[in-house]
Amino acid sequence: MIQSERMIKTFTELVRIDSLSREEGKIARQLVGRLKKLGCRVRVDDAGKKVGGNTGNVIATFPGKKPGGPVLLSAHMDTVVPGRGIKPIIESDRIRTDGTTILGGDDKSGLAIILEVLAVLKERKIPHPTIEAVFTICEEAGLVGAKHLDIRSLKSRHGLVLDSCPADSLFTRGPAADKMEFTVHGLASHAGVCPEEGISAIRVAAEAIARMRLGRIDAETTANLGLIEGGSAVNIVPDRVVIHGEARSHDELKLAAQSSHMAGCFREAADSHRIVKDGREVRATVESKIARDYPRMNLGEDAPVVKWVMAAAKKLGVPIACRKTGGGCDANIFNGHGLNVANLGTGMREIHTVNEYLLLNEFQQTARVVLEMLRFK
Ligand SMILES: [Zn+2]
Repeated sequence: MIQSERMIKTFTELVRIDSLSREEGKIARQLVGRLKKLGCRVRVDDAGKKVGGNTGNVIATFPGKKPGGPVLLSAHMDTVVPGRGIKPIIESDRIRTDGTTILGGDDKSGLAIILEVLAVLKERKIPHPTIEAVFTICEEAGLVGAKHLDIRSLKSRHGLVLDSCPADSLFTRGPAADKMEFTVHGLASHAGVCPEEGISAIRVAAEAIARMRLGRIDAETTANLGLIEGGSAVNIVPDRVVIHGEARSHDELKLAAQSSHMAGCFREAADSHRIVKDGREVRATVESKIARDYPRMNLGEDAPVVKWVMAAAKKLGVPIACRKTGGGCDANIFNGHGLNVANLGTGMREIHTVNEYLLLNEFQQTARVVLEMLRFK
């Protein structure tokens, strides 16, 4: 029932529309038009204003008569860079780029699947539940479109995000993440004339980082310092350095422990640097800002949406397994608001690189699974 040719056409049309984060206006208008033609009620929220973008999230309701409550289907409209002027090349088993840009299968494969599924439900007059289709902005910019979506306005309690790679993978568990910013304050002085009258913020930061547990902490927990900036000239003892980092864990207690360990390392390093200047003690200090970036996704195998997907896969005779990821996606935000939303792969590969491609058999399989799930839910 899925019309592969049509879905591929939709996909290639969508990837030809540039839509970097905060510049999703053109694709949003295109999608609003397509959704209305399919019979959806469509609105665009004000998230764009809040994040400095040129459109908000697109929220569509595709009315159905089946009882049991509506179902959420979601994908994101934005892409990473280099993402302008994408020229998709269709081969026998895949769609790839010309090597100069990403493909944007992340996540236009998800958008195309949702549009195709709605089209088939409509033209075949297949009984289905009401579907809420949510196309978000700025997922790649830190899930900020979903973070600014009024999730309480959605009626769905269960659903799927279509935003991961292998079609045989239903991601049901993902970590919570903290983001952090540490600002180390030292004391500036002339590096040649009176270095002893200064405190090097770079040295304090280096000592803190050297004693910090980073990378893979355990099977459920990771941590990274990814950005560092500080100092102003080689002949000045640096008085300030700023370090940005993150920690993630599937376990809230482990996440809290890791985040406080990282802050503790900076505190201890700062404490060990003090000088006496003009009869007064001056010490290094550190400002630590730690905030929750997104909540975890943690669906059991008995969650309704997991059961529906598994039943659909079984019926179609395709293998799908529940998996956990170390990444975050819009599903984390939906789950944080109490919805049960898993993330099903669409067949994209090597995402966020110019080698990105989309495997056509997996792309079609996911569309068939989603359609089957809605038919028999
Ligand atoms: Zn994505």
